Amino acid sequence: MAFLHLQHLPHPALRADIIRTALQMNELGINQGKSGNVSARVEDEFLVTPTGIPYEKIRSEEIVAMRMDGTFEGKILPSSEWRFHRDIYAARADVHAIVHTHATFATTLACLDRAIPPFHYMVAAAGGRDIRCAPYATFGTQELSDHALAALRDRKACLLSHHGMIACAADLEKALALAVEVESLARMYWQALQIGEPALLPDSEMATVLEKFVAYGQQSFTDGAG
Ligand SMILES: [Zn+2]
Repeated sequence: MAFLHLQHLPHPALRADIIRTALQMNELGINQGKSGNVSARVEDEFLVTPTGIPYEKIRSEEIVAMRMDGTFEGKILPSSEWRFHRDIYAARADVHAIVHTHATFATTLACLDRAIPPFHYMVAAAGGRDIRCAPYATFGTQELSDHALAALRDRKACLLSHHGMIACAADLEKALALAVEVESLARMYWQALQIGEPALLPDSEMATVLEKFVAYGQQSFTDGAG
């Protein structure tokens, strides 16, 4: 019966990609334990990692298919953070995959309510002159989702105060790459702050960098980094 069930499980490749992305978050050192979560849009729904199951034990059928009204079939509960995944997909047609992590350096800055300012040109990889930090609200709440959505305005990533970060992109690979980039920038900014307050690039220069990134078209932002 289980075999028959799996045969009829929709979107098996995307489910496998979500599990692989969740495992990679931890392998890459940008998340610890079960604290992060991953989702991907599919048709008029989205698939999201379940709550409470270690990534290495998640089976394909345990990835939860959620409707945009927040309902789902079955007994496996979606990530407790499903609400901001749902709200981002509802508000942002450009987003098809979301990675949420409690990456150490990004979260360190977020615990100080510090946005990542334009201290390095790659900050533009998140879509603007800075990477904002959303105000704190309890995990899983509508309030947190509202704060995250506001911080993500014209951006593909944000920090969450006293919590972690969110990276959004057109696919899972790009969302994971952006999460890695944000964590790297957070670490560089934190390190620079040990010596002093780094000078910031002017808005005009960040606008130039953003234009160059756009000129690279739909390619990954990292293509603009060399
Ligand atoms: Zn979280």
